[in-house]
Amino acid sequence: MKCTKFLAISLLLLSSFAIPIFCASNTTTTAPPPPPPQCGEAKVTGCHNRAEALKLKLVAIFAILVTSMIGICLPLFSRSVPSLQPDKNMFVLVKAFASGVILATGYMHVMPDSFDCLRSQCLPEKPWRKFPFTTFVAMLSALVTLMIDSFSMSYYKKCIADQSSSKDVKDGGLESQHIGHGHRNLEAADDDDSAASQLLRYRVVAQVLEVGIVVHSVVIGLSMGASDNPCTIRPLVAALCFHQLFEGMGLGGCILQAEYGAKMKAIMVFFFSSTTPFGIALGIALSNVYSDDSPTALIVVGLLDACSAGLLNYMALVDLLASDFLGKKLQNSMMLQVWAYVAVLLGAGGMSLMAKWA
Ligand SMILES: [Zn+2]
Repeated sequence: MKCTKFLAISLLLLSSFAIPIFCASNTTTTAPPPPPPQCGEAKVTGCHNRAEALKLKLVAIFAILVTSMIGICLPLFSRSVPSLQPDKNMFVLVKAFASGVILATGYMHVMPDSFDCLRSQCLPEKPWRKFPFTTFVAMLSALVTLMIDSFSMSYYKKCIADQSSSKDVKDGGLESQHIGHGHRNLEAADDDDSAASQLLRYRVVAQVLEVGIVVHSVVIGLSMGASDNPCTIRPLVAALCFHQLFEGMGLGGCILQAEYGAKMKAIMVFFFSSTTPFGIALGIALSNVYSDDSPTALIVVGLLDACSAGLLNYMALVDLLASDFLGKKLQNSMMLQVWAYVAVLLGAGGMSLMAKWA
């Protein structure tokens, strides 16, 4: 019985990785050789129709807005489902899936984009292809993220310590500020303290993640908005919808555990769902001057992507995956741990598959 279960799980894991690989190998055999680079100027290809492209882009703006909202709200509304309460196993699996999506966004979407930009033939050979700027900037950005993480935590702990010591003198006890759910037992005060600092951590993570994801979302919108080629835009509309749906689910899972109020949630939902449409609109407005492969665009986009790649990789591995998998709940149950890994791999596998298009 146990054996068949494990067999099924390992098959699932394998398949979640086989799909992207299979698809990738499929494209490499059929794709024509890349055309010689034309840097910083509009490419004239067989498929070129301004009016048709504009119509498609307007459709894309609305379609992507709606799918982004659905994606990010899906985990948020899951609260009303009884089996998705924070102390239930299903909630752990949703979170693990979300972490997998974020991990793949960093490694499979943002990092390769940055490599493409900064190693482009359109940039001068001398500094750009002589030194791996992408990994250098990503490394620094991961360190800066760690600093933000650690300084904000120690600052907060200091504040709490000051507050509680002054309060202890005044009224002899720390009023618990624990929000909403939870377990009140004999060690409630101590528990509340660590729960509150855990909650603050989740909030820092959700905010920083949103910033990291937004960079990628604007850039993919921008390059679509600047394109005049209906043949590439048409499939891209569908791809970007799925992209935002998936990424929204990842981010939504992180916002969910930050337990924000309705107003803050609404702001974060709006901010995330409007970024790709905003990028497209900006691309349309700038389509006369903006070019994907002008040296300035390549450097700016490449460096921004590298920053957000470092940030996403650090956050996904340290703040989301390690903190959950090494945490109390998952360490207590081997079976839950296995299923959580399945969820991570499904999220990461799905998002990796999406890297084929955008
Ligand atoms: Zn992407």
